[in-house]
Amino acid sequence: MDFEALKDSYRGGIDTTDRRKTNRRSRKQFTSRRPTPRMYDSVIFDHDGVLTTLVDLSLLHDATWDAFDELGVSDPDPDHVEQMVIHVAPDDVHAVAGAYDLDPETLFRVRDEVAAAAQQEAISDGRKVPYDDFDAIRNIDAPMGIVSSNQQATIDYVLDHLDATDLFGTAYGREPSMTSLHRKKPEPYYIERAMSDLGVETPLFVGDSDSDIVAADAAGIDSAFIRRGHRADHTLSADPTHEIAGLHDLLDIDRVPVAGDLDFEGGDSTR
Ligand SMILES: [Mg+2]
Repeated sequence: MDFEALKDSYRGGIDTTDRRKTNRRSRKQFTSRRPTPRMYDSVIFDHDGVLTTLVDLSLLHDATWDAFDELGVSDPDPDHVEQMVIHVAPDDVHAVAGAYDLDPETLFRVRDEVAAAAQQEAISDGRKVPYDDFDAIRNIDAPMGIVSSNQQATIDYVLDHLDATDLFGTAYGREPSMTSLHRKKPEPYYIERAMSDLGVETPLFVGDSDSDIVAADAAGIDSAFIRRGHRADHTLSADPTHEIAGLHDLLDIDRVPVAGDLDFEGGDSTR
């Protein structure tokens, strides 16, 4: 109920000469019992470039070359390899697979498996690490989830390696099949699944890409664009609800529940 509706609900039968005083008292009683209903009920994060650092693009290039090699294609056209590194579209997979008489699903699965293994190695040896402000999200007093366009195997490995599995009520990456290419962001598919898993309706989605903001829009939820160093000069084509520099800034967004907050009272934020 917003404030105007709240005022309306108290108008009937109240002596108008004392309405202002009564409204003020009533509002305080109402808001002191529970947080404002406009609080986000959860926070869902993109993974790469938000929670953990990006890997060097050369790692993904090398992994793609290895995938072709594993499939018995020892001398692929470099342009074909390039098409399979990032931002892969289903048409690309079909075209490239056709050039080597490969099954598109097999090409994509092996590409994903080799890329996931390479990233797991990077996590294991410290080339891919959580950002310094990662622990800030432990102060968020609401269910949290992950929706990444990275492989599910990569996300699972990262959370296990960081001993952070319990921090997130759900964590989606892509399954290693071409179906996932039709489901990944900017489609809202995995965000909607995460919302269903968490049983939430008004999450804030935090991402570092245009596709994150567009996917949040498509899911009908608010978004926060995190402008880390690799996005310093990026011009967004979408319009996020919030823009933040790091994960600590999330705690300053009034609608993000933070552990230790007092109930929202009398219009004053406690932080
Ligand atoms: Mg990202």
